[in-house]
Amino acid sequence: MHVVVPKPLHTIGQHASGLVANLAEILAVGEALERALALLQAGDVVAIPTETVYGLAGDATNGVAVARIFEAKGRPRFNPLIAHVADRAMADRIAGFDPLSARLAEAFWPGPLTLVLPQRADNGIHPLVTAGLDTIALRMPRGFGGELIARLGRALAAPSANSSGKISGTTAQAVAADLGDRIKLVVDGGATLVGLESTILKVEHGKLRLLRPGGIGAEEIEAVAGAKLVRGAAGIEAPGMLASHYAPGAAMRLNVEKIAEGEALLAFGGKRAWGWEQAVALRNLSERGDLREAASNLFAAMQALDRSGATTIAVEPIPFEGLGEAINDRLARAAAPRGKTG
Ligand code: AMP
Ligand code: MG
Repeated sequence: MHVVVPKPLHTIGQHASGLVANLAEILAVGEALERALALLQAGDVVAIPTETVYGLAGDATNGVAVARIFEAKGRPRFNPLIAHVADRAMADRIAGFDPLSARLAEAFWPGPLTLVLPQRADNGIHPLVTAGLDTIALRMPRGFGGELIARLGRALAAPSANSSGKISGTTAQAVAADLGDRIKLVVDGGATLVGLESTILKVEHGKLRLLRPGGIGAEEIEAVAGAKLVRGAAGIEAPGMLASHYAPGAAMRLNVEKIAEGEALLAFGGKRAWGWEQAVALRNLSERGDLREAASNLFAAMQALDRSGATTIAVEPIPFEGLGEAINDRLARAAAPRGKTG
């Protein structure tokens, strides 16, 4: 399904470990900016060095680009991603800062600190970045990433550049060996400085909660904050714990072949379930059955059908291949009884 355009031999680089499958171009930071920009502007993904680990970056305002991130990583679920910004002004257009978060950003940005903040309305960030949440995880990276984002003028969504289940890449060669057959460009900035993911914090009811330990130590943060960190999530939003994922108010019925009275229909592909004409509202994730397009439409479609007032959203079957696994995972979570986590 994924077409990889072979690159001239010289671009494969001396570190490509001789793997034939490894077709990604590796360019040093000093010569990569224009190529990386062109790929991002075209809605493609690029692996970039940051001070934490290498990131697999895509335009955070482009749903198909964000879907490509999940696809390239082979992530079986849509967890929220960190959006990377060039400066505080860009961050302020995306999210609201309470005084404590502002102080932490002032002290640690650019750097390995991620802040979870309330999103501003109409900030242009695609809902697949935040998995439909109304909060967003923001970070300002140092170096090449910051420069790239400033040139693009838009935030970059970027989880670690590794396939799902593998360890995060800290060199361009490790990233190319892992993802090189699925992405076009790895920007080589050498070994990453920190080599650890960013620390994730969220100010909640005046308390500072550590959602994920990372590149900045607790003591350092506490010194700036003038307060102790609260550890662990309050039943929500810990890395890997997606209790707080978006779930519609309506009930969800999956894999339907026949629509019942009063239901809204979440469709996929060209063939409709029986009785579709009587659905009270209809959204098709992708008429042409394209899973990438479906992924990018998923959260907005669920939200729209929820707003239709239907008590149940019927969902047509979606194949499990590729991004279909993550789409089905998210639908199953949305269909699960409220309060159930996982
Ligand atoms: P990664 O991009 O793979 O480094 O992972 C990003 C981490 O940030 C995940 O563990 C998420 O759970 C966390 N995260 C992202 N957005 C949010 C959010 N809005 N609220 C809480 N945690 C978040
Ligand atoms: Mg990771």
